Amino acid sequence: MPKLYLLLGGNLGDRILYLQQARESITAQVGSITQASAIYETAAWGKTDQPSFLNQVLEVATGLTPEQVLQIINQIEHDLGRERLEHWGARVIDIDILFYDDLVQQSQRLTIPHPQLHLRRFTLLPLHELAPDLQHPVLNKSITQLLEHCPDALEVKKYT
Ligand code: ADP
Ligand code: MG
Repeated sequence: MPKLYLLLGGNLGDRILYLQQARESITAQVGSITQASAIYETAAWGKTDQPSFLNQVLEVATGLTPEQVLQIINQIEHDLGRERLEHWGARVIDIDILFYDDLVQQSQRLTIPHPQLHLRRFTLLPLHELAPDLQHPVLNKSITQLLEHCPDALEVKKYT
């Protein structure tokens, strides 16, 4: 089965509860969670006048296509009450596709690998916990190497 890496994040309300509900929905609708990182806390990235984020990376074994995964994670975000008010704004839950095996795909709706993953310490750190040797199929570097060269200076702390 294809191996999928997802990034969960949220900075509103009961952040731990939203992460837990997202994991339950993912297990029910996307596939079994085969690995889950610790939960990390980061100051808001991009738009800094908002509460700090909790982030977690999941490894999921899925029988779905990438487009089906996108449709379902958008639905889960919607069901959990995410309001899409502004780009990079506060939200209860954001679910992004980081990798889908070593697939490379670029379209307006879906870019895989996620185009910003190598620029964000809050993504690389939990991902590194699960898959330090995973090779980025476009940048041809491992997660360890990407983390070493990551320019992002925001502090990412283990939360749980
Ligand atoms: P962001 O994640 O950048 O804060 P959104 O969650 O609102 O913003 O995502 C906006 C759109 O990004 C989604 O509707 C989706 O179509 C698109 N998108 C492109 N690539 C990806 C990806 N790898 N994972 C998740 N969404 C993606
Ligand atoms: Mg998103």
